[in-house]
Amino acid sequence: MGTVPGMTSTAETGGSQKTVRVAVAVPLDRSFDYNRHGLGPLPRGSIVSVPFGPRQLNGVVLGPGDGTVPATTLKPVTAVAPLPPLPPNFVDFLERVASWTMAPIGGVVKMALSQPQALHLPPQRKIYRRPDTPPADENLTAARRRIVEVLSVAGALPAADLQREAGVSAGVVTAMAKAGSLETLLVSDSTPPPRPQPVAGPPPTADQLAAMQHITGNLGAGFTPMLLDGVTGSGKTEVYFDAVEKVVAAGRQALILLPEIALSAAWKQRFQDRFGVPPTEWHSDVAPGRKRRAWRHIALGEAAVVVGARSALFLPFSDLGLIVVDEEHEHAYKQEDQVTYHARDMAILRARLQNCPAILATATPSLESWVNAGKVGDPPRYRHISLPQRVGEASLPEIAAVDLRRTPPERGRWLAPPLVEAISGRLEAGEQSLLFLNRRGYAPLTLCGACGHKVTCPNCDSWMVMHRLAGRLKCHHCGYAARPQSGCAECGEEDSMQACGPGVERLAEEVLQRFPDARFAVFSSDTVASPGSAETFVRSVVDGEVDIIIGTQMAAKGHHFPNLTLVGIVDADLGLAGGDLRAAERSFQMLAQVAGRAGRASRPGLALLQTMDSTNPVMEALLSGDRDRFLKAEAQSRRLAGMPPFARLAALVLSAPDPQRLQAAMQALDANRPHYHGVDIFGPSLAPLGFLRGRHRGRALVRADKTVDIQAVIAAWLAAASLPSAVRLQVDIDPYSFL
Ligand code: ADP
Ligand code: ZN
Repeated sequence: MGTVPGMTSTAETGGSQKTVRVAVAVPLDRSFDYNRHGLGPLPRGSIVSVPFGPRQLNGVVLGPGDGTVPATTLKPVTAVAPLPPLPPNFVDFLERVASWTMAPIGGVVKMALSQPQALHLPPQRKIYRRPDTPPADENLTAARRRIVEVLSVAGALPAADLQREAGVSAGVVTAMAKAGSLETLLVSDSTPPPRPQPVAGPPPTADQLAAMQHITGNLGAGFTPMLLDGVTGSGKTEVYFDAVEKVVAAGRQALILLPEIALSAAWKQRFQDRFGVPPTEWHSDVAPGRKRRAWRHIALGEAAVVVGARSALFLPFSDLGLIVVDEEHEHAYKQEDQVTYHARDMAILRARLQNCPAILATATPSLESWVNAGKVGDPPRYRHISLPQRVGEASLPEIAAVDLRRTPPERGRWLAPPLVEAISGRLEAGEQSLLFLNRRGYAPLTLCGACGHKVTCPNCDSWMVMHRLAGRLKCHHCGYAARPQSGCAECGEEDSMQACGPGVERLAEEVLQRFPDARFAVFSSDTVASPGSAETFVRSVVDGEVDIIIGTQMAAKGHHFPNLTLVGIVDADLGLAGGDLRAAERSFQMLAQVAGRAGRASRPGLALLQTMDSTNPVMEALLSGDRDRFLKAEAQSRRLAGMPPFARLAALVLSAPDPQRLQAAMQALDANRPHYHGVDIFGPSLAPLGFLRGRHRGRALVRADKTVDIQAVIAAWLAAASLPSAVRLQVDIDPYSFL
C-alpha cells in the first residue's frame, strides 16, 4: 500500500482522471485501476462493482488511478452502488486498519462491505389490503370473511402472513384479488427504524452526575478518549446512556460495543426501557435479512444507535458521533482469525479519524487503558472518569481466601470445607450462590490408570475434554468429538480410563451429592448455547428458580442477580497457570468480575477464592481490594521487561500441512532475521500448540521499542524470507494469544 491515497495528483503522475483506483473486496494486499468511462466522477469512498477475473466483485474507490496503465486498456467499472460514498474518514480508517494489522486492504474492505445485498436498492414486497370501496357484488365465503377480519385489524399484510393468520390457502387470496375484493401495494422492506424516544433514567447519584457532566463537556470537542472506570454496579451504563442520548438528540449516530451482545438480553431491555425503541443490533446471531437492512440504515444515517460485537466497528456510519466500548478490558475484543485486530484499539483509531469522543467503560481497566489514562506516570492521553462506589445500598463484596493447603477438600472433591459451609448458609437464608470454574465439560483429561496414556486430539496437540452430559470427548481447539472408551487404546487394559480434574459438569455432580435438595444449574456455552437460552437462564436465576449456579466465564459477565450473595471461585490459580504476558492481568480482571456478581442489591456479598497461594500478587490485590496497587506493580514489571504497553510486540504464526515445509519456512525466516537497534526477535520455533487443526505450527515473536515501526521491520523481514505458498503466515500485531 505504498503511497498515501488521495495525495498523489494525477497530473503529476500522468494518471488519468478517467481511471479510479479500487480496493476490491478480496483478501489481496493491493488495489486495482479501472476505467470509469461513462460514469461521471467517482469520489473516494464510492462503492462500485468491477470485473475481477471471471467474477463481478464489489470494491471501494480509493482515488484516481495511478496512471501506470493507460485508461483505454483498463477494464471499465461496471456499476456504482445507489448509496452515498463511504465517508472519507471511514475509508482512511479501513486503510489504517490494513496497514496497522498488516492485513490485505481487500480483506478489510471485505469486512466493511460484509452485506453485498445491502448495496442494491432494497427489494419490494407485495402486500394486500381491502380497497376503500369493495365491489358491491362481492361474494364473501367463510374463508374470505376471515381474510376481511384479519385485515380489519392488521391493515395490510404479505400473502404468506395473511394466509397463515386467516387459515386459508394461497388460492383464496389470489381469487379475492382477482375479484377486486383485495388490492395490492408494493412496499420496500427498508422502513427506517423508529427514532429513539428517550425517557429519563433514574436520578443520577452525585458521582454519576459528575461523570455525566464531564462527558457532556467533551461531546462537542472532537476526538476525546475517556476511560469510564467504575466498580461493578456503580452505574456506568446509565452514564454512557446519558451521553448516547445527547449524541442522538444532536442528530448523530452512536455505536456501543459489547463483548457478548447476543447474550445480553437484560442490557437490551434496559436500552429499550430508556430509549423507547430497541437498538440496531449487529453480531453473528443477527439473521441475514436484518443484517442487510441494518447495514443500509446505518449507511443512510437512519439507524441512530447500533449495539454490536467487534465487527460493528466496520459498519459504514454516515455520521458517527460517539463510540462506547463497554467492558473495554475484555479479550473477546481481540479477533484472532483473518484480519487480526483489537476492537478496543481500533475503536480509538476510528474515533480519532472521525474526530469524535470514545468512552471505554470497565470495572477492571486493561493495563493499556490504565497507562493511557496517565495513571502510572506517563503523559495522559485519555481522560480518567471514576465511579468509586456502588449505586444505592449495595456495597462491594467482601473477598476472602480459602487456603487449599490448610483446608483442602476431600479426595476426589473440589469444594473445600469453608466454601461448603458458606453455601449451606446461603441455602438456609434463601440466597443464591455462584460457583465459578472456567472449565467446560466434566474433566479436562482422561488418563489410563494402568499405562498413563492420555486421550489426545488426532488433529491438535491437546487433551480431549470429557463431556458427560453429551457422552462425548471433545477437543476444545478444533471441535473434534469422539465416543469415550472404557478400555485403553494404548495398552488394552479394560475399564482403566479415569477422568482427571474438574470441569463444571463434575462440580455439578459434587453439588448434587452434597446438597441433594438444592436447585442447581450449569451455565456454560455447552448448556446455554443460544441467545434465547441465555435469556431464559438469566430470567430463571432472577426469578429465584435456582439456588446454585455453576458457571464458566459466561456466568461472570455483566449479569445482575439481586439475590446472589456468595461467589465461590473454585480454582483461583487456574488462570495463572499459562504464565503468558497477560496471565496476571487477565486473571485479576476475570476474578474481580466474577466476585463482582455477589451482593449487587441490598444484601452484602461474599466472594471466596480457593487458592494454593494466597500470597501471589493477584490474590493479594483481590483480597486487599487494592486494584490500583496491582495495576501499578504490573505496569512496573512490564516496563522493566520492556513489554507492552511500554513496547511493541508482534507474532508471526506459521502453519504448514507437513513438518518439512514448516521447518523450511522457519529456516528461511531464521536466515533472514533482521538486526535493528531496539528490536529483539524470539524464535522462530515450534509453537506451544505445535499441531492445530491438522497443521504444524511455528511462531516467532518480535519485540520492539515504542519508537520502532514494527510493521516496517516485519514487512522487510517477510520480503527477504519469501515464504513458500503452502506455508500460511499470520501476522498478529499486539498478540493476546501465545499458543
Ligand atoms: P455498572 O454498569 O457500573 O455495572 P449499572 O449501570 O449496570 O452498573 O448499574 C447497576 C444497577 O444499578 C442497575 O440495576 C441499574 O439499573 C441501577 N442504577 C444505576 N444508576 C442508578 C441510579 N442513579 N439510581 C438507581 N439505580 C441505579
Ligand atoms: Zn483438536
